[in-house]
Amino acid sequence: MKPIKPVFEQMTNDIKTIQKNVQIIAVTKQVGIERTREAIRAGIRHLGENRPEGLAAKRAAITDEVSWHFIGTLQTRKVKEVINQIDFLHSLDRMSLAKEIQKRANHQVDCFVQVNISQEESKSGLAPEETLQFIKSLEDFDKIRIVGLMTMAPNTTDENTIRQVFKGLKALQMEVEAKNWQHAPCTECSMGMSNDYLIAAQEGATFVRIGTALVGTESEA
Ligand SMILES: *Cc1c(COP(=O)(O)O)cnc(C)c1O
Repeated sequence: MKPIKPVFEQMTNDIKTIQKNVQIIAVTKQVGIERTREAIRAGIRHLGENRPEGLAAKRAAITDEVSWHFIGTLQTRKVKEVINQIDFLHSLDRMSLAKEIQKRANHQVDCFVQVNISQEESKSGLAPEETLQFIKSLEDFDKIRIVGLMTMAPNTTDENTIRQVFKGLKALQMEVEAKNWQHAPCTECSMGMSNDYLIAAQEGATFVRIGTALVGTESEA
């Protein structure tokens, strides 16, 4: 496995030449505790997990001051074991999930609404045209603060297609932000992974979620 620190420093520099307001989330779902510790020693302060089990294991082992991001689909019945262990949820995509969070959270959770910009059937997330109404309908949920929008790029190597999706998320995020809703500052855009984080940075990402290209993968995570 490649040492994380030089990779992280190079990535940070590359992103900074594009724009300065981007946080790197190291997606550690495919690596173990030791590799996650190495990421923290390298200076990484945001960690992303996509399964309740993986989150619990790392939360139990790691006591450093880092921000914990849950980036995967969250089943309603798993909310109670996850929601009070995280700082950010990137996958709020339905009212039943919002209701369960409201019931189970003992702090206000910073949430991204996941939007299916590319409209691929296999992807979760709200349709773009449902997003404003969904966010508006959360105004009485005092356990939920909508900090931004999140999307997954389509499964393609065509740069222009990916770029259009990121542009679409940014435009929608700014539309929500412009509403000035108290419960939904919506200043953030969570988009970009190992293969497309530079495009995402160009299109206004404020959080990129990077696994393979940053921490790699281990067979036994
Ligand atoms: C796994 C995952 C990532 C990171 O993917 P890489 O291609 O390994 O960088 C980012 N976002 C989500 C939602 C993921 O599930």
